[in-house]
Amino acid sequence: MNAAEFRRRGKEMVDFVADYLENLEQRPVYPDVEPGYLQSLIPTEAPLEPENYEEIMKDVERVIMPGITHWQSPYFYAYFPAASSYPAMLADMLCGAIGCIGFSWAASPACTELETVMLDWLAKMLQLPASFIAGTHGHGGGVIQGTASEATLMSLLAARCKAVRRIQSVNPEKSEPEILNKLVSYTSEQSHSSVERAGLIGGVMMKKVPTDSTYAVTGDMLKKIVEKDKEAGLIPFYFCATLGTTASCAFDHISELGPVCNEENMWMHVDAAYAGSAFICPEFRPLLNGIEFADSFNLNPHKWLLINFDCSAMWVKKRHDLIGAFKLEPLYLRHENQESGLVTDYRHWQIPLGRRFRSLKMWFVFRIYGLQGLQAHIRKQVGLAKEFESLVRADKRFEICADVIMGLICFRLKGSNELNQNLLKKITKSREIHLVPCHLSGSFVLRFAICSRTTESRHIQKAWRHITQLTFELLQDSIR
Ligand code: PLP
Repeated sequence: MNAAEFRRRGKEMVDFVADYLENLEQRPVYPDVEPGYLQSLIPTEAPLEPENYEEIMKDVERVIMPGITHWQSPYFYAYFPAASSYPAMLADMLCGAIGCIGFSWAASPACTELETVMLDWLAKMLQLPASFIAGTHGHGGGVIQGTASEATLMSLLAARCKAVRRIQSVNPEKSEPEILNKLVSYTSEQSHSSVERAGLIGGVMMKKVPTDSTYAVTGDMLKKIVEKDKEAGLIPFYFCATLGTTASCAFDHISELGPVCNEENMWMHVDAAYAGSAFICPEFRPLLNGIEFADSFNLNPHKWLLINFDCSAMWVKKRHDLIGAFKLEPLYLRHENQESGLVTDYRHWQIPLGRRFRSLKMWFVFRIYGLQGLQAHIRKQVGLAKEFESLVRADKRFEICADVIMGLICFRLKGSNELNQNLLKKITKSREIHLVPCHLSGSFVLRFAICSRTTESRHIQKAWRHITQLTFELLQDSIR
């Protein structure tokens, strides 16, 4: 494909994408395919001879679309949102064109510097303490990770390294394996599985802290378990708090947990993968109070801030805790400005070496929407969640299972888990709306998350009518 054809195909692709998104609600949100469906539709080997573009685009409809779960459909209410907006998609196209791999400042100065500034912009929108902001000449700063899982893992590994060095500085005779055996980390029993996984990858013990009636961890709960572990000779070193848990969007009490972590020399990481974006709205910002005690903080603009995947924003209070933990300097990656003190080499902040120019997406979206536009998006989605909550509450056959604070409603039919499992099966089979379940206090619960940028009140109303229709059928069936 040469530049002339690229111009033509590129314009066609923009039309294809706009048509796809504008007409998405007419497609079933959930695919009707069996495992292995795709292998039977395409050859088992790559073509020897070049093929033509039209054939490929025909196959997008024939092969790909039947197997897509349409995350951008206004009838998609599963998991949490996968953010999407036109400016982000355009910026991604430009990122692909520039095609730089910005692992160091020299590898593309604009890629590094825009990232630092965008993370500072976002930190200021969130009113993060100055200690997290790079441009304040403090010791902190931000980085774009691929996912919240990577941010959690990085924080855990940095905390592990810091703890080992601290202990060896007073007990030089202690070997690293001896210390690692005693290190213990903590997280909520409600935290995302990626936190437990970080513990497994990091090779350290991870204990689950029980939650209160709102599914949140309190300071007292953590303190109790830490005290017990210290008495048993263990060394507590890390706690991962969650603001906006995956199951029910609960908020750990970080203003109580922070002082416990600080007193015990434990790193506190705050995972706000979904809910963190909402803290740009002053009415939600109090939920972030206590962040001043944290060592690191993460949220996913690729969930709720209109920036397409992947874009996970992470800040640390002391950037040297991260950089110092994993620094290696092969000659081929060194550059003449790296000691200037003015440059960041993001390769030290993450697990992979290579990295895309993801801050372009943030820059385009922040400028096209402005802070007010982003706040309006969050508020609209929270409003839709409240609307759905009222519909559920008005129907006495159902119950709401957790406080609706943001864009997630946890609800169930009053009755057995089996009844609710059957309702979800019917919903999934219908392919008109898509939800996923969770467990709360032993109950099987349906999660309804407002996801798509294009979801409106009429979609919510239709989704509820659909759920009540299927409920009616289910209850009729159970009488027969
Ligand atoms: N943390 C929380 C609270 C989440 O809800 C999720 C995903 O929904 C994650 C972490 C994992 O996010 P990622 O896919 O960015 O690793």
